[in-house]
Amino acid sequence: MRVLVALGGNAMTGPDGSAAPQAQWEAIRGAMEHVARLVEAGHDVVLTHGNGPQVGNILVKNELAAHVVPPVPLDWCGAQTQGTIGYMILVALEAALARRGVDRKVAAIVSRTLVDRDDPGFARPTKPIGRYLPLAQAQKLIDHGETWQDRGEKGWRRVVPSPEPLEVLEAHTLHTLLDAGYVVTAAGGGGIPVVRTPDGDLEGVDAVIDKDLTAALLAEQLHADVLVIATDVPHAVLGYGTPEARPIGRVGLEEMEKYAAEGHFASGSMGPKVEAALRFARSGGRSVITTLHQITEAVEGDVGTVIDAPRL
Ligand code: ADP
Ligand code: MG
Repeated sequence: MRVLVALGGNAMTGPDGSAAPQAQWEAIRGAMEHVARLVEAGHDVVLTHGNGPQVGNILVKNELAAHVVPPVPLDWCGAQTQGTIGYMILVALEAALARRGVDRKVAAIVSRTLVDRDDPGFARPTKPIGRYLPLAQAQKLIDHGETWQDRGEKGWRRVVPSPEPLEVLEAHTLHTLLDAGYVVTAAGGGGIPVVRTPDGDLEGVDAVIDKDLTAALLAEQLHADVLVIATDVPHAVLGYGTPEARPIGRVGLEEMEKYAAEGHFASGSMGPKVEAALRFARSGGRSVITTLHQITEAVEGDVGTVIDAPRL
């Protein structure tokens, strides 16, 4: 089967969310053992991944060093983190496959995701990124044109547009590599956000794209059979955090849409995963939300929250 695995924060950062290099190596090495097991089982695997903590660190450097070196925009942050995380995945996955005697090549592709210049997200930035700052410090960045919001006690935080992903522009390259037997990593951090200019050229934009929504789009573009959203909980849960909490197993598309509409899935975390899972299921695929260590079982068995495409 062709499987797209979207790796969450716990695959790339330490248990405490640390993005220190050693913590990232350890997390990725651990994650790649699970990915190697999936590849060993004979599946064609595409990986995508988040980059929140890594971009957060670049933004802190931007702030602290702005008087010495020019701050870099978010499309550059995306490109840089795709490079670094992609590199670590290559090293760790190659080693994990070699240990298992699995002869598959690996590649990591710098990937752009097309968004619409007229996306409503650009008029009203909503996605909080980076660290909290006191107004006195945030003001310098506000003067540079950034949008910051008062978040009360914690301080001020930058918000950026989070436009809808329309197309992963590297899909053709990825098809070619998959057909040649590669395990590929692509569209990290939701992909580098680019818009089409009136001249037809591409231009990077200061925005971030939700990695789970891009994962659903990429799974569709690559004709994947299964989208696995690998996170740190075994299921999406109804009444999460309440005494009535109930894990969701196999579920129909309409039933899951109803739960989403009822607000069971938090907007900054489980919400986009469920939305991504719904989108891919609507396009005719099978979506699973579960933990990283169960990804092989998610493809072959019946674990996690499973949304099947409706039978036509
Ligand atoms: P990732 O870093 O893997 O992309 P997130 O941390 O963004 O994942 O989202 C996973 C988290 O979502 C879980 O650890 C859990 O705390 C939270 N969450 C919020 N609502 C729910 C829910 N209804 N069911 C399960 N988990 C939920
Ligand atoms: Mg997380």
